[in-house]
Amino acid sequence: MSIITQDQAEKLRAADIAVPDVNETCIGCSACVAISEDVFELNDEGISEVVALDSYDGKDVDDAIAACPVDAISWENSRA
Ligand code: SF4
Repeated sequence: MSIITQDQAEKLRAADIAVPDVNETCIGCSACVAISEDVFELNDEGISEVVALDSYDGKDVDDAIAACPVDAISWENSRA
């Protein structure tokens, strides 16, 4: 799995595909990884990042958003 690039995220958004985002407040608790391991992985600094996928539907992202203790995860487009 590879981390999504800004370019890839912009292409998905342009196609009206919702893309999750993790902001700088992530504390690396790994709750999102436990809930949605296809979508989130911890980087070398122990911070969550979003994996490059064609779609994030059905991947429990909303559950990960709800579980994040610091509200670091959001949908990047109008689906939010
Ligand atoms: S649940 Fe939130 S704080 Fe924990 S690793 Fe994921 S984004 Fe970071």
